[in-house]
Amino acid sequence: MWHVREASLRSAGIVTASLAESLSQQIESTLKTADTVVATLAQRVEVEGANPETLQRLYGLMTSLASALPAIHEMGLTDKDGNAIVKSLVLHPVGLNYRERDYFRFLSSHDTRDAFVGQPVRSKVDGSINITVSRRINAIDGSFAGIVVTSVSMNSFRKLFETVQLKSGGFISLVADNGMLLASSPDSFGDGELAALAAAPAGALEYLSPKDGVNRVGASSHLPHYPMTAMVAENSSTVLSEWYGQLRVHGAIVLSILMVIGVLGYRVDQANRATRLQALSDGLTGLANRRCFDETIAREFQRAARNGQPLSLIMVDIDLFKTFNDEYGHPAGDACLCAISAAVQGVLRRPGDMAARYGGEEFAILLPETDLAGAVQIAGDMQAAIRALAIRHEAGPLGVVTLSAGVASCNPGRLAATPAWLVEAADAALYQAKALGRNTVTVRANVEIAAPAAIARKNAA
Ligand code: GH3
Ligand code: MG
Ligand code: MG
Repeated sequence: MWHVREASLRSAGIVTASLAESLSQQIESTLKTADTVVATLAQRVEVEGANPETLQRLYGLMTSLASALPAIHEMGLTDKDGNAIVKSLVLHPVGLNYRERDYFRFLSSHDTRDAFVGQPVRSKVDGSINITVSRRINAIDGSFAGIVVTSVSMNSFRKLFETVQLKSGGFISLVADNGMLLASSPDSFGDGELAALAAAPAGALEYLSPKDGVNRVGASSHLPHYPMTAMVAENSSTVLSEWYGQLRVHGAIVLSILMVIGVLGYRVDQANRATRLQALSDGLTGLANRRCFDETIAREFQRAARNGQPLSLIMVDIDLFKTFNDEYGHPAGDACLCAISAAVQGVLRRPGDMAARYGGEEFAILLPETDLAGAVQIAGDMQAAIRALAIRHEAGPLGVVTLSAGVASCNPGRLAATPAWLVEAADAALYQAKALGRNTVTVRANVEIAAPAAIARKNAA
């Protein structure tokens, strides 16, 4: 979209540049025509002299030329003192003196055959702004005899600009080299614009208007032989209006696509979370499953080793659960498992603690940053919580459902242990608890200093 924007500005730059160029050529040729007229008149006066008959003919010639050439405002002849003798607009010019005009001062003091293009001046007849093209007339002896002057109407240029003005809030103007605004459409627009355009970075198509703070695309063209420049500019917003429309449409499409992707992504993410949660939790009890336990103990082991903290594990097994099933049926067994899971989970207080269903009626409780004494305490709490449920179990040690627990603890930072070794140690303690008559908590003694090989040997024994 940015490339399209640049291309739109570039083509507007080309259009304004060619328009400025063709206008400057047209103005140039108008001024040349005026100069040709002046040259012809000057030569005629020098040859024919300035007697009343000649002046009368000259007046006729001037008025017909002026009406044939719309860009020419008027023509005139002055004597050597600057007094108007003939003027195309005034039949009997009396009391009109042009001594102070820049062209008079220059040509009266310089014996030159060249045309003089003066600064824009205000007409003494009708107050309009015009540019003068004048030539010196010499007497036979070569002395200064007067001036023939033609004024070119800036108003005619303004009308020309109006007819070609871009229908865009842009403008066309003609500016003198001294900065004076000669003609413009809309009226009086363009002051300082040329300077702003000239000050724009090289190669830039846009400039910021000092007049109204609007960005414009502009171009200028200096007349080849006269001290003025034609300038054409268009408002950037007009140039880019089509582009803004496209931008809005494309933006809406991209936004819609992003929203669809966002919604789909959110749903996929939710589904992934649910799937992952399912993959890591036990279907019956809602506790973490064996897979989750294996991942967590590996992670916690490393964390404990890094932090120099102890890590404890309680392996729990429901006592005589096979008998419970046989006695009360499998559905009652399932309900019992759920109730016990909730009670076990209820004992845990810290966010890092985790209860997992390890096997059929076995649970593993992982306790980070907990030492052996703390773990034994929690195992005891669990036993008490299960007993408090008072689920009838005639064959059980107390006539209600009970559990046995094996506790092991280690400090992974100080010991070359593995998660498997910790599980094995807690399991061995559970085995002892069962052997001691059930409804018991047993600790795997000295595991903090025992080597894995020694534990294995002991287990085998
Ligand atoms: P012990 O005190 O030595 O642990 O005796 P026990 O009967 O609990 O031990 P055993 O391992 O022989 O029996 C475990 C029983 O747990 C076997 C099975 O009937 C029961 N069990 C395992 N998983 C489930 C389950 O998801 N639902 C039900 N209802 N029972 C289960
Ligand atoms: Mg068992
Ligand atoms: Mg059991």
